[in-house]
Amino acid sequence: MIRRALTQFMTGRYGGDQLNLFLIVVYVILCVVGLFVRWGILEIISLVLVFVCLFRSFSRQIEKRRAENAKFLQFARPIVRSFNSLRARMADRDHRYFKCPNCGQQMRVPRGKGRITVHCRSCGATFEEKS
Ligand SMILES: [Zn+2]
Repeated sequence: MIRRALTQFMTGRYGGDQLNLFLIVVYVILCVVGLFVRWGILEIISLVLVFVCLFRSFSRQIEKRRAENAKFLQFARPIVRSFNSLRARMADRDHRYFKCPNCGQQMRVPRGKGRITVHCRSCGATFEEKS
């Protein structure tokens, strides 16, 4: 009964997406931070987040909300990617990671081989690096 009413209410409305999920996560973080500090501004920001989240979920302008989410994903993708690569690097105990001093290209060498000569595949620079 309630379920049907809810389904009926949500028909033609936007619902959830990654941006809303992100807003909820930020909201939860702010709530936790709010347990330790007494900043009135946190409560205001939290309220705004909840409001924006509800507004987007119940919105009937589905195309607009989709465009917002696409923009958000475009912004978030490089952050998520660099976070994932950092995690992969931390898990990789067999290689040492560094950047090419000439062009900044990410490189890796096997660990424990002493000082070795490295050749950058991206810019062709050659330099010494400890492994
Ligand atoms: Zn290079």
